[in-house]
Amino acid sequence: MRGRILALFAGRGTLVQPEALELLLSQPDPEGLAGRVLASLPKEKLILSAMDVRAVLGGPAPAGGGAAGAGAPATEPRPAEGPSCAPEAAPRGVRVLKDVTGGSTCEGRIEDFVGYFNDRLARLRRILRGRRELAGAVPVGSLRSRRHEREVRTVGMVSDVRRTQNGRTIAEIEDETGTFRILLPAESPANLMRDEVVGVVGKLSNDGDLLWVQSIVRPDIQISRQPHLAGRPVCAAFISDIHVGSKTFLEDRWRRFVAWLNGREDRHQDYARRIEYLVVSGDVVDGIGVYPDQEEDLLIRDVYRQYQVLAELLKEVPDRVRVLMLPGNHDAVRPAEPQPTFPPEISRLFDSRIAFLGNPCLFSLEGVEVLAYHGMSIADFVSTIPGLSFNTPIEVMKEMLRRRHLAPVYGDKTPLAPESRDWMVLDTVPDIFVTGHVHGAGLENFRGVVLVNASTWQSQTDYQRMMNFNPVPCRVAVVDLASLEWRTVSFDQ
Ligand code: FE
Ligand code: ZN
Repeated sequence: MRGRILALFAGRGTLVQPEALELLLSQPDPEGLAGRVLASLPKEKLILSAMDVRAVLGGPAPAGGGAAGAGAPATEPRPAEGPSCAPEAAPRGVRVLKDVTGGSTCEGRIEDFVGYFNDRLARLRRILRGRRELAGAVPVGSLRSRRHEREVRTVGMVSDVRRTQNGRTIAEIEDETGTFRILLPAESPANLMRDEVVGVVGKLSNDGDLLWVQSIVRPDIQISRQPHLAGRPVCAAFISDIHVGSKTFLEDRWRRFVAWLNGREDRHQDYARRIEYLVVSGDVVDGIGVYPDQEEDLLIRDVYRQYQVLAELLKEVPDRVRVLMLPGNHDAVRPAEPQPTFPPEISRLFDSRIAFLGNPCLFSLEGVEVLAYHGMSIADFVSTIPGLSFNTPIEVMKEMLRRRHLAPVYGDKTPLAPESRDWMVLDTVPDIFVTGHVHGAGLENFRGVVLVNASTWQSQTDYQRMMNFNPVPCRVAVVDLASLEWRTVSFDQ
């Protein structure tokens, strides 16, 4: 019975808290009740609590729940049900799990490129080899000899992609043993990106020098994964792109946000007072010389002064909040990703509550694993995959997770450093994945991962107006680390 009920919810990607399970099992018709509870839940509800079960039993009405959508009505889940529902004692505080800072080996030699692409191929191939659809995959170099086989499977890196006149896709894949041409039908939804690593299932042409693709297999992420949860009802807030120093930095709204953190604004204080972590996903200042004629948009033309002013602003953030900050393309660090964190000349301007991370960075907050990436490569995805735009960053993030790579395309819009290890490969799937950069705002649950596109504190610039881009500023995404439920609080007025 226990197993059947858990499976019922797992099938929907919902995790059942022990109390909720006990409550279900203590009722006359547990399975029937489970079915009714399931039907009552909002789509993509991540965690089933006893409160949700009681709501169906006719107990006290539940709150709307964080998972109802960005800008959900002002209903508030009870500050989770206390540490007793935690799976096990989760560690407190911040732990950095993966960060290039201090570990950069890149000198830009030819050997660096070979090592870089080999590392990417090897690590993603390891994930792909675990996929049933790719059992018996052969090296690319041995494909030609298999033209009599009904079906062949292989894994390789896409080294060239072209569209033919009749809408089909011709690509080349390669590994250490060779390269091979593959042909995808016009109706294929695969959207191959250059330099991504894929599994290919197909049939060889009669002469054995072309592979007709039946399906492309991606590393992807498991549908039902068990997220890590914090052992107490503490919250993390996610923001990005503050752009201090710009004439369009929205200082008045920033001050309202900080006042809210300090309990000086009434709404959603059940969330505000539980916030102990503030993650800032890059472009913390506007920088200098980032784009032509930027000086005209700057209020503060000295980059150190920009960081000094930011440090002053962050002093108003209450003491209980640990601030974690990574750089973006506007910050004074090397532009090539992965970006090591801010140099000491900058970090020493800030007080000790600020933790400086690289971009990207994988870290844990009370055991909950967070992947933070500024998001420059969103441009590569938008220019390659039809239907994606700068207004759909969450959809772009799903494509990154499917490819288990933050920035596959080398040498296009995202500057990448050929480190001996490819830091943009996602060996593990985080519980929370956050980006910024596009100055939008998005929050969604995707296969057990909370996706956050954190919002900006800069209003539309002339450049953005020229590009017809409309930002969605001053939204704060707050995630309860004990339940992974979330809400957005807007300061845009
Ligand atoms: Fe930005
Ligand atoms: Zn940016």
